[in-house]
This record gives sequence, structure tokens and C-alpha cells, in this order.
Amino acid sequence: MAINTSVEKVQDYDVEAIRRDFPALDQQIHGEQLVYLDNAATSQKPKSVIDSIVQYYENDNANIHRGVHTLSERATLSYENARKTVQKFLNAQTEKEIIFTRGATEAINLVAHAFLEKLSAGDEVLITAMEHHSNIVPWQMLCEKTGATLKVAPINDKGELILEEFEALISRSTKFSAISHMSNALGTINPIRQMIDLLHQHDIPVLVDGAQAIPHIAVDVQALDCDFYVFSGHKLYAPTGIGALYGKMERLEQASPYQGGGDMISVVTFDKTVYNKIPYKFEAGTPNIAGTIGLGAAIDYVSSIGVDAIAAHENSLLDYAVEQSKRIGKLRIIGTADNKGAIMSFVLDGIHPHDVGTMMDRQGIAVRAGHHCAMPVMDFFGVPATARASFAMYNTHEEVDALMAGIENLIEMVG
Ligand SMILES: *Cc1c(COP(=O)(O)O)cnc(C)c1O
Repeated sequence: MAINTSVEKVQDYDVEAIRRDFPALDQQIHGEQLVYLDNAATSQKPKSVIDSIVQYYENDNANIHRGVHTLSERATLSYENARKTVQKFLNAQTEKEIIFTRGATEAINLVAHAFLEKLSAGDEVLITAMEHHSNIVPWQMLCEKTGATLKVAPINDKGELILEEFEALISRSTKFSAISHMSNALGTINPIRQMIDLLHQHDIPVLVDGAQAIPHIAVDVQALDCDFYVFSGHKLYAPTGIGALYGKMERLEQASPYQGGGDMISVVTFDKTVYNKIPYKFEAGTPNIAGTIGLGAAIDYVSSIGVDAIAAHENSLLDYAVEQSKRIGKLRIIGTADNKGAIMSFVLDGIHPHDVGTMMDRQGIAVRAGHHCAMPVMDFFGVPATARASFAMYNTHEEVDALMAGIENLIEMVG
């Protein structure tokens, strides 16, 4: 396949070496080499992550905390080391500000339940029109329960937040705001530093949904000054079923527990329960120990390459894809924000996105087709769904060529 040498590749970025670390990439689908471009839904896992899980189950498997035997001590140490790894990765002040959850979704629900139960009629929660369902529905449920109102800041035709409109929606009634760092449907990167500043001028706490941003943007929660930041491990090369919530200590101290059970308590009698310290207070029951260890290994892997280097590589893939897509007349890109991560959502004139998805799979190319858990975004652009190619650290310019050839083939087949 021809490599377009006019597009600049990132210097010293050894994508072939990276690819060798990801066993799942090396396979044939329908007789073709797999081209995996569904990374915004979940990423593949490097060998080091898979090995860390095998190592845990083969050697250290035990329940954590309160165990005095060696295996339990080892498991506890690995689990708590992963917490420190997440702390460093986000630059949180202390590891106590890191709470492990099942993923971004559970982390958002945790904040909605534990921090915001005291909302009442007349209060408002402010989100944006580009949120993932995970950052809409928990707030709708909260509003239904408390009588509060959900406010939605609009986007423009490029899929960018209209910052003035966001600011205009901030009022004395605004009690909380939840905003995405990067849209999974459009790729838009929000000016969250500015948004957080606007909210903080009115003392409004803010949660940042970092599920899509975390593999592409270096995050410093202290510099951002957000009150909460959430992400899932599985989009960051870690297993499914593990994610994290960062909460500023003062905010976590204001929150009540999310779920009741073991590990989140220090004393239980039938009269009264005394809750455990933060963060354990928010981690009821036996956690996903193996997943947590896998998350630590994934962050170590990402850090060894560097988020900025990864982002530069992915952005060069996106630029190349956008450039190449211009030759396909029937293709329209949905989401053309000036500040955008490596996601290309598109529609093809006269071909349903689901058909695009299945016809690409016949050619070994994995893209996602659907509403991407962002139905309001689809409504805004007047499409039922889009096809979406999303890039990760291991994708190549040749794979972009394969994507474009695949799209041209299917347009020809449909006629
Ligand atoms: C994937 C995603 C979520 C939900 O993450 P889960 O892993 O399903 O909990 C939320 N927000 C955005 C922007 C996402 O991309």
C-alpha cells in the first residue's frame, strides 16, 4: 500500500515497536489484516497489561486489606500502588483523592449520589449538548428525584461548545456542572480550563468527564482545578470494569458514601456504622483487584511513551485522514472543531452508517457505526448515526490508507 510521504510523521515515534506490544492487532479478519479503528469505544491491551493480570492471578491472588497473610499483603500492595500510579498520572495532591470505580459511568453516578443528594427544586445542573449519555442520564435521574432542572449549553455547526452561551447559563441557581473534556462522538476538545474558571467565579463545583480525553491529553487536575475528574481504564489500554474518580479532598469530605458494604466501614453495630476513611469510604465491597493492577500497568505503559508523543502521532493520523477523505465526494465529516482529538465521525451520502460498519468489517476494518451514546448530538446534526474511525497510539498512516480504500470500495459496491 502506498505511503503518502507528504504527510509528516512524528520523529522518533516507533509505531512498529508499539504494535508488537499489542497481540490482538496481529490477526486476520475475513482474510484481511485487521485494521482496528474503534479505539474511542475501547482500546486494545498491551502485553504488559495482560501479563500483570496473569501474574496477579497466578501468584498473588487474595482479597485485599485486613489480610495478615503474605498473598493478601502482596495483593494489597499492588492495589494501593496502582492508586499511587493514577495519582501521579493525574497529578492529584494525594492518593487519597483517587477512588476506584467500575468506570467513568460509575464514577459519575457516584458523584451524583454521594455529593448532590441535597439538591432541591429551583437548583440547576449545567451540562453541554455534546455529552455522552453517561454524563446526561445520571443528572436527569438526579433532577427527577430532587426537582432540580437540567440546563444544556448548546454547540455550533462545527460541534464546538458556544462558550458565551455556556457562560450565560451560569446563574445563582447553578449548583453543579458536568462537562466533557473531549467528545467521543465528535472529537471536540472543550476549553475546560476556561469553563472551570467561569464556574468557580460563582463557586460552582465541576465534574470533568475525561473518559475520551484520558488517552490523548495529559491531565493535571491541580492545574485544571476541577473538583472531580472521571475516566475509564478500558479506553486507556487497561481492562474493562475499572476506572477512577478523582475528587478534591475538600469535596470528598462533603460527600456521603455511595454504596454500603464491606471495606467502606470502620465499625458496624446494629445501632450505628462508622464509615471508613477516604478513599475507602467510597469503595464498598471487594473491588476489581486484577483490573486495578491492569490499570496501573496500562498507565506505566502509556507513560513510558508519553501522552504528548502519543497525541502528536494520533493528530498526524487525523490530519492525514481528513486530508485524504477530501477526495471522497460522498463523505461528510461530522464534527470539525478547531481543537479536536483523533476521532473522525462521518456519513456517506445514501449509505446507512450501519451498512458502512458491516461492509468495512468485511474488509478487516473495525469502525463503529451508531449514535455513539450521544443521541442528542446525532439529533443536532440531523443524522440517525455516524460511522466513526478513532485512532490510538498503535495506528499507522498505512491503516488510514486502508480506511480510505475501504470506503471507496464500499461506495463502488453500493453503486
Ligand atoms: C466512553 C465514555 C463514557 C462512558 O465510559 P464507560 O467506560 O462506559 O463508563 C463517558 N463519557 C465519554 C466521553 C466516553 O467516551
